[in-house]
Amino acid sequence: MSDAAAENTMRLLFALRTGGVRDKRVLEAMEAIDRGRFITGLFSTRAYDDTPLPIACGQTISQPTVVGLMTQALQVTPRDKVLEVGTGSGYQAAILSKLARRVYTVDRHARLVREAGQIFDALGLANITAMTADGSHGLPEQAPFDRIIVTAAAEDPPGPLLAQLKIGGIMVVPVGQAEAVQTLIRVRRDERGFDYDEILPVRFVPLLEGLGRDG
Ligand code: SAH
Repeated sequence: MSDAAAENTMRLLFALRTGGVRDKRVLEAMEAIDRGRFITGLFSTRAYDDTPLPIACGQTISQPTVVGLMTQALQVTPRDKVLEVGTGSGYQAAILSKLARRVYTVDRHARLVREAGQIFDALGLANITAMTADGSHGLPEQAPFDRIIVTAAAEDPPGPLLAQLKIGGIMVVPVGQAEAVQTLIRVRRDERGFDYDEILPVRFVPLLEGLGRDG
């Protein structure tokens, strides 16, 4: 990371702490990943602001504080196999790669997957596999997962994702209508079933069915 990027990242870390991100491992992972790598073009000057920004295919990179709070809520351990639905820029997956054993990330837009994959390679993040897929069906060939994070809003936690969560596993998912304030939900699975708790109000792009058409 360049000196300027490192300095900007420290500024961003201050915003994260102020916003309630306290988990030391999460803060270290976010310190290690330069958000500036995931934002190109017009908005690159704002890469270190604590704000969501537009990326390709009409999607958004999430607000850093929300990324931090979601990652913290996911309670990732170094043994975990994680599924992320909604690769987008790849920023969230890169942070997860510092915390987990293995990260699978899927997006319905092939272009986003391709561009994120190039950044993972350039950063040497070898434990991430990025794939084009409709993540509302999960990733059956790699299931079950210790942790699942959904970074697009669903009306309800998708059934296939609940089914692909291990006993003892945790999933975080924004739930609610598109274009409205949604609630970030944490789902824990144990032998008896699923427990739900509400983490915070959020606003995400919708989880859509099928693949995107633009490359
Ligand atoms: N986590 C991303 C931000 C994701 S934005 C980051 O760190 O930058 C939400 C993403 O979810 C978009 O890229 C969108 O294409 C994707 N998405 C929406 N519905 C999907 C689905 N059914 N399967 C896979 N990806 C989906």
